[in-house]
Amino acid sequence: MCKESGIGQNGTYVVTPVEISNRIQNMKETKTLLKETIKNFPIQCGVYLMKDINNHVIYVGKARNLKSRVRSYFSNAKSFKNVFLIPRIHHIDYILTDTEVEAYLLEASLVKKHNPRYNVRLKDDKSYPYIRCSMEESFPRFYMERRVKKPGSLYFGPYTDAGFVRQMIHLLNTRFKVRDCSNHFMKGRKKPCLTYYIGSCTAPCVNKVGKVDYSKQVKQSLSFLRGTGKVILKDMEKRMKQLSKQERFEEAARLRDSIKAVEFCRAKQSIVSQRKKNGDVIAFHQDKQAILFQTLHIRIGTVVGHRSYYHSRFRQSPKFISERLCSFVIQYYMDNLLPELILISAKYKGYFSTLEKALSKIHGKSVCVRGPKGSIEKKLMDMALKNAQSRFKEQNAKKQSLLHALEDIQKKFNLKCLPERMECFDISHFQGQQQVASHVVFHEGIPKKEDYRRYKIKTVEGVDDFSSIKEVLDRRFKHREYPDPHLLIVDGGKGQLTKALLALKEAGKEDIAVVAMAKARVQSDFTAKEVKSSSEKFFLPGRKNALYFHSHSEALRILTHLRDEAHRFAITYHRKLFQKSF
Ligand code: SF4
Repeated sequence: MCKESGIGQNGTYVVTPVEISNRIQNMKETKTLLKETIKNFPIQCGVYLMKDINNHVIYVGKARNLKSRVRSYFSNAKSFKNVFLIPRIHHIDYILTDTEVEAYLLEASLVKKHNPRYNVRLKDDKSYPYIRCSMEESFPRFYMERRVKKPGSLYFGPYTDAGFVRQMIHLLNTRFKVRDCSNHFMKGRKKPCLTYYIGSCTAPCVNKVGKVDYSKQVKQSLSFLRGTGKVILKDMEKRMKQLSKQERFEEAARLRDSIKAVEFCRAKQSIVSQRKKNGDVIAFHQDKQAILFQTLHIRIGTVVGHRSYYHSRFRQSPKFISERLCSFVIQYYMDNLLPELILISAKYKGYFSTLEKALSKIHGKSVCVRGPKGSIEKKLMDMALKNAQSRFKEQNAKKQSLLHALEDIQKKFNLKCLPERMECFDISHFQGQQQVASHVVFHEGIPKKEDYRRYKIKTVEGVDDFSSIKEVLDRRFKHREYPDPHLLIVDGGKGQLTKALLALKEAGKEDIAVVAMAKARVQSDFTAKEVKSSSEKFFLPGRKNALYFHSHSEALRILTHLRDEAHRFAITYHRKLFQKSF
């Protein structure tokens, strides 16, 4: 057994029993210190921010009574949060607010700003597109967008099929002759573009149409989008039949696609209410480990889409579920369209007026939050619940499979903990020109794109990937604000690995596990009857032979995905610089 902590014979970091007991002792001391600090917390409404040793916010919560809420984290020794969150807390800050509504709003904006690790992240499994009409511009146009962010614009949706949305926008542009060019393209033009000559735009760029007439075009297209353009749809159907009679099948097929897009966007297929109101239904499903929020979107009396937000590592007592639900609703509507009506289970009616006040403050317009009334609304609530349950099962299965894969990686590389955060580095250049590096991050087995970074190699001349890896790792570990990875992967072989180890040593980060991943190679030549390809190889420090994963394993799929992402990110940046250099 090793007597000191450090790199062991197999290259992994060895933690001695002495160090483990030191860590436990430190943790106990921190906990005692925190408990002491909490004693001085105010008995008032506000928001608390839990921070780790690097001063990163890892959790944000709101409370009516800050002292008792924060103290509750330290009372239940077996709670989920005690196991995962508490050991990582170094200190806790708080901000007082006058009212509970303000606390909810502040919590939502702080979660958005810091994206804390242990808060529900409002990242849906899929982001559905909206159609945006840029009413704030002098000559509005239509865009497809995934977030509601421009004040003054009109948004329609969300829709579930981006292809249909694109077709719909194309149809709106051509049918109502609305411009489809960017502001930059339109600015300073002396003559119209081809779109004008083929009759698909009235050319506001060169004043061939005035503001008043152009706004009439936009008005017509909006009423069509709102579902009042049935006459045009009938016209299109008639024209399609004529075209097929004349055996102009290509044109007829194009028209058929447009009709489909219109029908889809008007969501004729699932009309659920004749009241033509816009509303959202919100439901959730949870177990001891995770929670999933489900939203259903009803536009002009029709279900046009749904979204789900899954959050694992969740364990809340029923007392706090309603608060979690409120926080979710407020965070969700910070970035999304606020409908006239939001339906939530009547069980949480005690929170409806707080939500109404908070949402009205965010959007500057009133909203009705209430439980479902009547059979149609109850049916919608059931639908949202059923969807939540089914997606929850799906997400749980996905999560379990990812967890098993991470456990496989931990076992194979003999890591001291689960590789929750993995970082991969790759170099890209053309014969030593425009050398760049990518830094790609996977959190719990999936890409965390907001943490991706790219670097221009500054000190290396010519083809020298080893030194480039060293330079980029030196620069990466100067960023003390980035969390340390549990596993660092460099694209390449033993040479890259040696340089990575050197960089880690110089940065004082020897306890970070590192491996080099060499690409699979096709080994046969053109004349060979059988084409053989090698598997991905992994080189570990202090180990002579490479390691291999089973070719169909989920662990290998994740690692290959991570490496391919790094490759894609590096090459995209390299191409961009290369094109710029001409
Ligand atoms: S004609 Fe003018 S306004 Fe219309 S698309 Fe072309 S550039 Fe834009």
